[in-house]
Amino acid sequence: MTDFTYELDADGVAVIAWDVKNKSMNVMSREGFVELDGMVDKALADEAVKGVVITSAKDSFAGGMDLNIIARMKEDAGDDPARGLFDGIMQIHAILRKIERAGMDPKTNKGGKPIAAALPGTALGIGLEIPLSCHRIFAADNPKAKIGLPEIKVGIFPGAGGTTRISRKLGAMAAAPILLEGKLLDPKKAKSSGIVDEVVPADELLASAKAWVLSAKDADIVKPWDQKGYKFPGGAPYHPTGFMTFVGASAMVNGNTKGVYPAAKALLSAVYEGALVPFDTALKIEARWFTNVLMNPSSSNMIRSLFINKEALEKGANRPDVPDQKVRKLGILGAGMMGAGIAYVAANAGIEVALIDAKQDAADKGKAHAESILDKGISRKKVTPEKKDEVLSRILPTTDYDALKGCDLIVEAVFEDPKVKAEVTAKAEAILGDDAIFATNTSTLPITDLAKASKRPEQFIGIHFFSPVDKMLLVEIIKGKQTGDVAVAKALDFVRQIRKTPIVVNDARFFYANRCIIPYINEGLRMVREGVTPALIENAAKMVGMPLGPLQLTDETSIDLGAKIARATRAAMGDAYPDGEVDEVIFWMEEQGRLGRKANAGFYAYDEKGKRQGLWDGLIDQFPVADEQPDLQEVQQRLLFAQALEAVRALEDGVLMDIREGDVASILGWGFAPWSGGVLSWLDMVGAAWAVERCDTLTEAYGKRFEAPALLRELAENGEGFYDRLDGQRADAA
Ligand code: NAD
Repeated sequence: MTDFTYELDADGVAVIAWDVKNKSMNVMSREGFVELDGMVDKALADEAVKGVVITSAKDSFAGGMDLNIIARMKEDAGDDPARGLFDGIMQIHAILRKIERAGMDPKTNKGGKPIAAALPGTALGIGLEIPLSCHRIFAADNPKAKIGLPEIKVGIFPGAGGTTRISRKLGAMAAAPILLEGKLLDPKKAKSSGIVDEVVPADELLASAKAWVLSAKDADIVKPWDQKGYKFPGGAPYHPTGFMTFVGASAMVNGNTKGVYPAAKALLSAVYEGALVPFDTALKIEARWFTNVLMNPSSSNMIRSLFINKEALEKGANRPDVPDQKVRKLGILGAGMMGAGIAYVAANAGIEVALIDAKQDAADKGKAHAESILDKGISRKKVTPEKKDEVLSRILPTTDYDALKGCDLIVEAVFEDPKVKAEVTAKAEAILGDDAIFATNTSTLPITDLAKASKRPEQFIGIHFFSPVDKMLLVEIIKGKQTGDVAVAKALDFVRQIRKTPIVVNDARFFYANRCIIPYINEGLRMVREGVTPALIENAAKMVGMPLGPLQLTDETSIDLGAKIARATRAAMGDAYPDGEVDEVIFWMEEQGRLGRKANAGFYAYDEKGKRQGLWDGLIDQFPVADEQPDLQEVQQRLLFAQALEAVRALEDGVLMDIREGDVASILGWGFAPWSGGVLSWLDMVGAAWAVERCDTLTEAYGKRFEAPALLRELAENGEGFYDRLDGQRADAA
């Protein structure tokens, strides 16, 4: 394997160029480290080498460490994984420290060889940690390049010296957005913030780095932290200003993460403790905290769901084997909130759109929605006026169904009424070509029933978007009983074109995402009726990593929608309807006219500008708070199990066919505690045996809805988890 090339030029500069074969961007592997280490040794040992430039043969430097390796690091670390991980991390530190010290005398700091990093473009994660160990960083003036340490976003932190070096280089305050938020900068901003040293024209990159290497003196290559009298910029923790920074950072991290993301806490500890000791000890502390994070299943679960499996689904892991079904022209029926959002994302992805509504002004309003999103983009400098014109020119708002001629996909988003939907289906099919696929965006009506209005039910499918369409990343694709493979492939290819993440599920009431989120909301409302303090319900949810408490979520989606769904479900289920207690709360709120955020009044109070204030006092007048309150964990478990058990039932019923989809959708679709890696990963994390035991207790206390599904019991009996049993398997379509 050769991930790096080595070349010694006539002036005595060794150029180590990173160039991983068959990849558009370099990523670091175990073998890559060994190779880099060997080349650094060679350069340092060769008397003919005066200095070194580490660069890349591609137009970027590197995208980071291979995430597949990080996800498996614990499993691959041997019988004593903590020890194995720590030793492995220390080996990486040793390689980078060797670059940093470059053969200089440990006492006099003299005699080292200058080593520069030359970054042609993007440099992320380990792709920045290596340059940070070099003596000078040159970046090409490439405004598209992104430079930074995004590890925190995958549930880990920069653990190859990046944490220690960036905080010592910039000080804790300036390092905070880079480390804690994973903020990425273009080369010029990276220079002004002190991360890179020089930004030069791309065609002068290598020459500039070489020239510096040949002119650098002993003093130029000694890092500040290896010099006598080094002081931590902005003050170490016991310095008066440093103290303020660290206290503030600690409060901020806990406020933002509610303490559920182990990486943020560990990162802060590594910086704080590292700042109190000499550099090499700080690296050891960083390695200990990094080991701690990698030992926590949260990091590997997050990487598995949010990167590896999300990407696999986007690349078509569950796509039937039929030819490319890319959408050329899209027809949208209904230009309301959803139709307008879908028109924007499609046009933005380069697709021609015919946007149809019953009235011309409604169709125009749909197009105006796209315009307002683009205008916001312009004011944030993310969109150019030319791009806006180009995107808008692709949307034709009209009432004329003839505009559907030539459409190869229709997405229907008219009122949630089977009659209206049947009418527009027939009208559209009369115009469409034989191969066109018809999709409905319904959120509650069974696809198989709606398909009855179609002349070609095998070409009829559900494509369920979430609101707001331009922001939500998940799209649920629903197969009706007769939906064929081409329709599934078409839906998947469309979702890929608009750069969202798809899951494919079978048809059943509420499909998958809404089926799981409704019990979460209902559990919160049940607790209100039981007399649990509303603030306890909301805070318990947020403290376990849910983005919104169940009451706030109900306000956002609206009380009347909740009441409408409750009525329809009650009508469909008859005596088996289990949520009468919930309805007491939701119907009472509806009667009070407190319809949620849109009415400026709901479970929360809002000011005239619509800004959310505290919880509404009137709620506890109607549903008085009980004298005895449950403990926090009990509330949290009720809220999490309500969602997770429904996901297991969806899997048992064959609605969900792939556990990866169950997890990815739970995070992207409704924000299920992302630190856990998703609903099923959470059950694996706590263990099926513990989950079953808790379910038995909760069933006794609160009722049958907490009964452990048979599949969970079986896993508990066998000492297995969902990923032990089902990873990579796809259940047959029901
Ligand atoms: P909406 O009321 O905002 O929009 C519906 C639009 O359809 C209106 O502009 C209306 O004029 C138009 N329309 C009605 N009858 C028509 C006809 N015969 N021909 C052409 N146009 C017609 O509703 P919405 O919130 O955009 O929801 C649309 C669909 O999407 C529903 O099926 C809904 O269940 C589903 N959905 C909604 C959400 C959500 O959060 N609102 C989320 C997912 C799915």
